[in-house]
Amino acid sequence: MERISVLLLVVIVLTIALAIHGCSSGGGSKRPIGTGTGTGTGTGTGTGTGTGGPNEFVYVWVITGGSATAAELDAVKANIQGLSDGLYGVAHGQQHIAHLTIKNNGATSECHVATPVDRVASGTLGGGTWARCVPGGADGKYIECGGLVDHYTFAHEHGHKEYELAGGVLAEEYSGASGCPCVISTGAAGGLMQYCDDGNHETSWCPNSCWKAIMDQTSMTHTTGDYPAVGAGPTTTVVIEP
Ligand SMILES: [Zn+2]
Ligand SMILES: [Zn+2]
Ligand SMILES: [Zn+2]
Repeated sequence: MERISVLLLVVIVLTIALAIHGCSSGGGSKRPIGTGTGTGTGTGTGTGTGTGGPNEFVYVWVITGGSATAAELDAVKANIQGLSDGLYGVAHGQQHIAHLTIKNNGATSECHVATPVDRVASGTLGGGTWARCVPGGADGKYIECGGLVDHYTFAHEHGHKEYELAGGVLAEEYSGASGCPCVISTGAAGGLMQYCDDGNHETSWCPNSCWKAIMDQTSMTHTTGDYPAVGAGPTTTVVIEP
């Protein structure tokens, strides 16, 4: 009798212990409530792939100052693949726009690209400005451009935005009729649909060539002087939020 009691007690204690353990590992509603303070530091490394990774851009493009028509939004959408393919080409297939959401009458605070509603059917911002890179937006800088911006102009602003090419949003690689043979120059100043590298960069514009700056910041690679042609990039999925 006594032995059975002890055994029973052991079983009960074990059961309680298991039950308590089960709660803590199960988490949720039975966690004790408490308050406390603490400090800590840590470091870590990691790798990853997939949508939204480095060089696979997931963007929001807002129409600002009003609403564009459905037809205008469709035209903006139809222009996106060419912009992504342009980015893909200048980076030898190492970057593209994976997904893009067009938001009608949106706020620049949530965007990566913005188009004033009165420029939605245009390739430029008007008043002599093709496009620009502006502080703000969802991640610090956004591109402001016409709804039907061309792929060269977009790659130029994208270079300012993602890689601070030429050293920032106001620096360029052109003046008058001379510039670097790259997208941070202009067509009129000898610009080409490529990033300049240490073999063709004119250092009077800024210390680093476009490729030097990009390779310092990303895992993308480029061999000086090697500009292989690549075809169209992966399909960009585009969603319109009217
Ligand atoms: Zn520029
Ligand atoms: Zn350049
Ligand atoms: Zn250059």
